[in-house]
Formats: sequence, C-alpha cells, structure tokens
Amino acid sequence: MSNEKPLLSIVIPVYNEEGNIEALHTRLIQAMQGLSFEVIYVNDGSKDRSLALLLQLSQADNRVKYIDFSRNFGHQMALSAGAQASRGEYTVFMDGDGQDPPELIPELLQKAQEGYEVVYAQRRTRAGETWLKRYTAKQFYRLLSRITQVDIPVDTGDFRIIHEKVRKVLNQMPEQHKYLRGQIAWIGFRQTALEYDRQERMSGHTKFSYRRMLRFALDGISGFSTWPLKVATLSGFVVSGVAFMLILYSLYQKFFGSTEPGWTSLHISVLFLGGIQLLGIGILGEYLGRVSDNVKQRPGYIVRDSNTQHEDQ
Ligand code: UDP
Ligand code: MG
Repeated sequence: MSNEKPLLSIVIPVYNEEGNIEALHTRLIQAMQGLSFEVIYVNDGSKDRSLALLLQLSQADNRVKYIDFSRNFGHQMALSAGAQASRGEYTVFMDGDGQDPPELIPELLQKAQEGYEVVYAQRRTRAGETWLKRYTAKQFYRLLSRITQVDIPVDTGDFRIIHEKVRKVLNQMPEQHKYLRGQIAWIGFRQTALEYDRQERMSGHTKFSYRRMLRFALDGISGFSTWPLKVATLSGFVVSGVAFMLILYSLYQKFFGSTEPGWTSLHISVLFLGGIQLLGIGILGEYLGRVSDNVKQRPGYIVRDSNTQHEDQ
C-alpha cells in the first residue's frame, strides 16, 4: 500500500449501485490517467452486491479504498466519512451512478490549481430527471439563496473539488444534519463554478424520494437560515394586530351597535388563529428537533469495516 500523499482523493457514496460501480470505475480510471489519486468508496448500507464489488476493486488496486457503514446513514454522511478519510491535497465529491461525469475531474482540478480552494460543478442541463424534480430543485435553491446570508450557489449538487484547507475545516464541523454544499459555502475561501451537463443515471433509480428531498431541504433551510422563525414571529404580530382591531370592533358593537350571533366570523377567526399557532409551533419543532439531535452528540455514522485510516466520528 502506498503511503505517499496523493494529489486527489475521490469520494464516492454508494447505496445499491451494483449496476453502476464497475462501469463508473472504469471511466474514472480512464479519466485519471497520469494523475496521482486514491478513490474512497463509501458503502452506505447497500443491500445488493455493491460491497462485494467494492472489495474486489480494492483488492485489485491499492488506490481503491472503501468504508463500509453499519447501516444506511444517508448520502451526506457518506460524503462526510469520505472526507474524513481523504489524504489527498484535493478531495472530489461525486455520485456513484454516473450522473457526475468523472471526465470532468481534470477540468475541476485545473481550475482549482488556477487558485481556487473550491470549484463546484454547476448544472447547465440535467438529463433523465423529471420535470417536477428539476422545477422543485430550482425553486428551492432560489428560495434558499434569498433567505440565507450565506451564498449557497444555485443549480449545484455536491459534485465539486475542495482543497485540503477546506476539507480540514469541514471535518471539524460537528453538525449532525449535514448540508455540505451549504457548509462549504459558509467556510468561504476562493470559490468558483464550472459548468457541466448532468447526465442520466447509468442504471437503477434515484434514492431520493420527494419525502427525503423535503427533509434534506429542511436541513438546508434550518441549518443556514432563521427566516422561518422570523415569519412565525411576523405573522404572530400581524394576526395579533388584526385580532386587536376585531376586539375593538366587537366592543363597539356590544355597547353602541347591535350584537348578532356572529357564527361565521367566530368560526373563521378560531380556525385562522389555530392554523397560525400550529404553523408557529411546527416551525419551532423543526428547529428544536435538530437542536436535540445535536445535543445528543451521537456519531453521525458508524463504520463496520474499512481499509482507510479512519480518524474519528
Ligand atoms: N446515496 C447514498 N446513500 C443514500 C442515498 C444515496 O450513499 O442514502 C448515493 C447514491 O448511491 C448515489 C448518490 O448518493 O451515488 C446520489 O444518489 P441518487 O443518484 O439517488 O440521487 P439523485 O442523483 O437522484 O439526486
Ligand atoms: Mg443520481
């Protein structure tokens, strides 16, 4: 096993990608010709033959590392584990389904060497994804950039290259609900984009249901913005203001006008107030749940087996 520090560490999360691993690996090796690199596959609790394929690859080539999780901990945790195990001067994050073309890595590297600590690949086009996914993603990233102070780039995923200076900071950030693209934007340094055309998955199907995307989106928002809390406060003020005027109006009616049964107005205001209160409590709950997760200080992931020098977590 070579102990020399490679130029590149390429981190690839793998969750049931048996149909993609070999083809992707071949493309990767081809694209990396002449560069010193290691590739770190993180098996995130796959239930198919992915792990067996990764073990085979790592036995045949000592530049291939693997980390096998004790169960599925999610894409972001898999990337984080890969970042912890990276030794290269640069680390690349990319998907294991061929949607992020390995052929772009030399360009990312070149751009980084021009003096950027972060070069993220920005999607010019996205093939093989539903209209609804593209639309919701686009709207979400625009909303996110409006409500956060951190400049999180639009139309990007985690496909990017980062310098070890950035990686070291990232590895020290203890949050449980990882939102790496936000964290990296928050870290700063010189960052730039490189445009690419996002490909279709080579085989298999996406692991991100809408439910899971919503949870990830809430991690992004709650991790980088307190705007929803402000909305709750603001709507509280507005509703209280309106309620105060209605109170004056009802008192006026009682003493100087004629009081009517008023069932409709009562009904509407009770429902409205109830709705607003539940919304406020729900928003508080989203934040509080995440605070409680962080207070527990559980490890973000658990490694079952690995051939990397895994440090902590
Ligand atoms: N992935 C993972 N753990 C998960 C879900 C996904 O490691 O719980 C991996 C998956 O194998 C792939 C990458 O993360 O390499 C991106 O997942 P996917 O292609 O399903 O997401 P999409 O491209 O549809 O956003
Ligand atoms: Mg994909």
